[in-house]
Amino acid sequence: MSLIVCKFGGTSVASPERIRNVAKRLIRRKQEGHQVVAVVSAMGKTTDELVGLAAAVNPNPPTREMDRLLSTGEQVSMSLLAMAIEARGYSAMSFTGRQAGIVTDNTHNKAKIVSVDSKRILDALDAGYIPVVAGFQGIDANGDITTLGRGGSDTTAVAVAWGINADVCEIYSDVDGVYSADPRVCPHARKLDEISYDDMLEMSAAGSGVLQMRAVEFARKFNVVIHSRSAFSDAEGTYVKEGCDMMEEAVITGIAHDTSEVKVTVRGVPDATGVAAKVFSALAGNAVNTDMIIQNISDEGFTDISFTCPAGDLARAKETLSRVVPEIKAREVDIDESIAKVSLVGTGMKSTPGVAARAFTTLGEAGINILAISTSPIRLSVVVDAGQAAEAVRQLHTAFGLDSEDVFEETQLSAEEIAAKMNKGR
Ligand code: ADP
Ligand code: ASP
Ligand code: MG
Repeated sequence: MSLIVCKFGGTSVASPERIRNVAKRLIRRKQEGHQVVAVVSAMGKTTDELVGLAAAVNPNPPTREMDRLLSTGEQVSMSLLAMAIEARGYSAMSFTGRQAGIVTDNTHNKAKIVSVDSKRILDALDAGYIPVVAGFQGIDANGDITTLGRGGSDTTAVAVAWGINADVCEIYSDVDGVYSADPRVCPHARKLDEISYDDMLEMSAAGSGVLQMRAVEFARKFNVVIHSRSAFSDAEGTYVKEGCDMMEEAVITGIAHDTSEVKVTVRGVPDATGVAAKVFSALAGNAVNTDMIIQNISDEGFTDISFTCPAGDLARAKETLSRVVPEIKAREVDIDESIAKVSLVGTGMKSTPGVAARAFTTLGEAGINILAISTSPIRLSVVVDAGQAAEAVRQLHTAFGLDSEDVFEETQLSAEEIAAKMNKGR
């Protein structure tokens, strides 16, 4: 008998019928002799709709109120799932983040978990209930509701798994595991049987939405095994865990893409000592998270400095630069919102020369222009035009020998749907 946390994402609980199916699956796990705790996301697109409602009444809603509002989405699905379980003759009890003992700091909208007290969940398990926990939320020291950032139910699941010392944290979604690239963009993507925490962390950080980065960070820190699998089939998914033997051999584990960033260029910057420091100190001071930075060679004493940042930080970046640009006597600011970051990820890259050369040649031959480059020992990222991102992912996937013979049959997305999916983070 194992102790299992089963987390179901928005698509898996999008309708009453799907909630009933989740209830059936949880009961089946229990009948197999396991003890189960469920963690749920809000139904379907509920969180996006709540964000839209807030924007309709206030273009800049207070973050405390936002968290109050967004946390309701998960509270609807937790109650409905508990009711659906009870309807099948099993006992269930739902818990908000607070009731599940998830205490966070007070950074509204992207709070960090500071402690987990799972006593109530363990008591409910002992009493024979299936506990159902609302994902994505916690409580700060003032007793205010906080949320853990978009996709944060994954983090709740891992935290609960750690809190109750579960054997595995199963994360169910609309794909049957972690693939070598988003299978909806790259049909020949290969399902991975296992992936190391380090590789998964890098994939998530580079935009692979299948697991939230903070969930992987938490899992790595506390050694929680994640099993990413499908809510719609019984197929084995992907285990995310320490020390995966096969990973040593692969140079590239996967390719991730991210369309949630924008590119900002400050043109005509006087090429003088301390200017970059002024620009980036001011941006940091206004909580703009800069990612890739490119400074062009100087032409007659002037240069261009570009950086990428999350689309959500753009308003603050613009505001900052409107103050700094006159101060440093730069010419103008250019914004390019139609960009995507495509990243090759793999711990095997560390010891393999020639990855960059092969990647650049592949993109060049496919007519894909590289707008910026950044590297780490286990990641190579390029910025390309958003319209070419899907093609860049596919070309690199083939060039690095990652293609599977199988084709991801299920719901191949149209070009428009791919674009919509790719813009999800905005
Ligand atoms: P949930 O709503 O259940 O949390 P998500 O939408 O967050 O599910 O994550 C599942 C989606 O992640 C898939 O539909 C898929 O398009 C996308 N995805 C991105 N990169 C990958 C990858 N490398 N492997 C599998 N899925 C991926
Ligand atoms: N409902 C939240 C979101 O849409 C959290 C989650 O789904 O994990 O981001
Ligand atoms: Mg998710």
